[in-house]
Amino acid sequence: MRFASLGSGSAGNGLLIEQANTRLLLDCGFGLRDALMRIARLGMQAEEIDGILVTHEHDDHVAGVFKLARKFRIPVWLTHGTYSALEKRLPKPIDFPLHIIDSHQAFSIGDVHIQPYPVPHDAREPVQFVFEDGQHKLGVLTDAAVPHPIWKPY
Ligand SMILES: [Zn+2]
Repeated sequence: MRFASLGSGSAGNGLLIEQANTRLLLDCGFGLRDALMRIARLGMQAEEIDGILVTHEHDDHVAGVFKLARKFRIPVWLTHGTYSALEKRLPKPIDFPLHIIDSHQAFSIGDVHIQPYPVPHDAREPVQFVFEDGQHKLGVLTDAAVPHPIWKPY
């Protein structure tokens, strides 16, 4: 398994994960052009991506998700809460496969086993993920914070 960041921080997040013949994108907080440039810079093409996983509805994680999914017909996985928070922004009709996941239930995409886990964050049903290829595990944790009266989480 290997992975590379498209970028991280409040300007946009995205992580590419590759295992054997499966390539996944975890979040995409960049506009379409920017996302394609960042993917190309890592020697990959959007056409090769088998799925996009979404952690939560904040713009720095989802800005490019549906644009990429539509253009390249990439399936998207997200929780029901994230789906409902984003429902108004979804194209109608939805013209790419959309999978609603249970935030506790493991699932697989191609060669990758994926365990979601809920996190405390100021979003509807935020999750983070652990990716597993049978030998190695990759745990990802980007956003886990709830609003403070003074401090603002990303
Ligand atoms: Zn967030």
